Amino acid sequence: MNYGKKIIVLLVLIVLVVGLAFGLTRYFNKTEPNVPVTTTTSALSTTEPTTLPTETTTESLDDLKEGIDTEKIKPNELGEIMVIVYHRLAEENTNYDRTVESFKADLKRLYDAGYRTISMEDYIHSSFDLPAGTTPILLTFDDGSISHFKAIKNEKGELMPDPDCVVGILDAFYEEYPDFGKHAIFYVNADAFQEPEYLEWKLSYLLDNGYELGNHTYGHNFLNKLTGKEIQEVIGSNEQLYHDINEQVKFTSFALPYGILPEGDDEVLAMEGEYKGVPYKHEIAFLVGWRPTWPLYIQGIERSGINRVQCGDAEFQLNWWLDVYEEDGSKRFISDGVFEIITIPAAWEEYLDKESVEEERLLVY
Ligand SMILES: [Zn+2]
Repeated sequence: MNYGKKIIVLLVLIVLVVGLAFGLTRYFNKTEPNVPVTTTTSALSTTEPTTLPTETTTESLDDLKEGIDTEKIKPNELGEIMVIVYHRLAEENTNYDRTVESFKADLKRLYDAGYRTISMEDYIHSSFDLPAGTTPILLTFDDGSISHFKAIKNEKGELMPDPDCVVGILDAFYEEYPDFGKHAIFYVNADAFQEPEYLEWKLSYLLDNGYELGNHTYGHNFLNKLTGKEIQEVIGSNEQLYHDINEQVKFTSFALPYGILPEGDDEVLAMEGEYKGVPYKHEIAFLVGWRPTWPLYIQGIERSGINRVQCGDAEFQLNWWLDVYEEDGSKRFISDGVFEIITIPAAWEEYLDKESVEEERLLVY
C-alpha cells in the first residue's frame, strides 16, 4: 500500500469512529425513552391488536387495574426488552463463543436481577404473563451448533441432552429455578446440531419441552446476493426440510444471516414468499444487533429488523447492558403482574401504537 492510499484508509477510519461516537453520544444523552425513530409504517409491519379471551369484561378489567400498585412496582410495559443471541458454547469466551461456565453465570445473573424468559410466540403476540416487577427476556441461539443440543445416552440406553449443551443446561436451570421459565429459540440452517442420526429425536424433544425453532436459511446465505427466486428457495426449503422430519415445525420468526436483509423490492421476501408452491410467513425478523428492543405495540418498530443483544461482556453486549440497567432501570420493561392489563408511565404514552392495544386494557399512570 502506498503512502496516499494509507492516508485515505486512515481518513475513512477516522470518519467511521467519529460517526459511531456521535451516534452513541446522541443515544446516551437522550433523556426521553429511546424509542424507534422511524415514523413511517413499513409495508411489512402489520399490527394486530393484542386481544384477550372473550369472557373478560370491561368491569373486571377496571378491578384488575385497581389492584396494580403503580407506586411500588413502577411498571412499564412499553419498556426495553433484550432478545439475547448466543452462537456456540466453546472453550473460551470470544465474540462468537461463550464458555459453559459463563453461560451458566449469565443465566444466574439474569435470574437474580429479575429477568424471566418468554417464548417467541409470546413476544410476537405481545402476551406478557409475568410476575409483577419482572422483565421479559428472550434467549435465541443461532446456527444450530452441536453445542446447542448434543445427544447422549443414559444408563438405560435412552437418549437425553448432554448436561453441558445449551438444552441440558437450560433444563437443569429450570429444575432449580422454575420461575425463570423454560424458553429458548434455535435459529437453524439445514445441518442443525450436526448429529443427523438423532435429529428427529431432537426436534421432538425441543417441541415437547417448550423450546422453539426458527428459520436461519438453508445455507446461512447472504440474502443481498441472491435473486428473489433464490431467496425464497433458501428460506422455504429450510422450513420444508424440518417440516418433513416433524410436521409440527413451523417457522414464524427469522434470524437474518449476518443481519442482512434482501435489497430493494426483495426485502418483503424475508418475511413471506413461497417455495415449490408452499408458502412461508415470518411475523418478525432479527438483526444481529447491539441493543434491546421493545414490545411490538410501540410506534414505528420495524418487524423485519428487530434488534438483539449479543451475549458477552464487552460494550453493548449482554453483561454491559445488565450493568446499564442495574445503574438505571427506568427504561427497562417492568411487568405489572396482570396479564390482561398493559400499564405504562404517562411519559411513555406518546410512544404507544394505540391501534395495536385495546383501549380497555390500557392503564396509564
Ligand atoms: Zn448465523
